[in-house]
Amino acid sequence: MANLRRGFKTWCENAAASYRRDLGLARGAPLDPLLLARHLGIHVWSPADIPGLKQDIVSHLTMDDPESWDAVTIAAEGMVLIILNSTPDLGRRNNSLAHELAHIILEHEPAHVFHTPDGHMMMNEYNEVHEEEANCLASTLLLPRDALLEAIRRGMSDNAMTKYFGVSAALLRMRRNLTGVDKQLANSRT
Ligand SMILES: [Zn+2]
Repeated sequence: MANLRRGFKTWCENAAASYRRDLGLARGAPLDPLLLARHLGIHVWSPADIPGLKQDIVSHLTMDDPESWDAVTIAAEGMVLIILNSTPDLGRRNNSLAHELAHIILEHEPAHVFHTPDGHMMMNEYNEVHEEEANCLASTLLLPRDALLEAIRRGMSDNAMTKYFGVSAALLRMRRNLTGVDKQLANSRT
């Protein structure tokens, strides 16, 4: 988190609260990144949805080598499209999608742009600072500090929280550490 500018984490918490408001969700509610994508006018496809993608490529991406990629954002003819790995691991899927949405929300200019051979599509790759910012915003969108605090106060176990918020155990652990909620709760008990 060395590269994050001052106030960025707070900005992320505010963004998480304001998107929940836009979507009619309570502050402590889980946020389905698919709903957020729809709200932002961004299309989300699985490899099987790509027209003209050969069946052997689809099988490669979804069955033979599903670990090798998470999501790609493509800007094509004025529309933004995210192709999301359709892995059954919900925590990973939500994190990948939230990460791509974070780059878009933060208006990150790609460090490298790849054009497809037909010149119709570009794929984005970002610099290190932008990666950290996207990770911070994505994890905050999925699990804001308020929501985490509320869930812990309600006595939810880590396992219950990962299911409820649709996040991985690693993301939950990271948020518990970074937000300082455990410290806050320990102090309020003494
Ligand atoms: Zn990224």
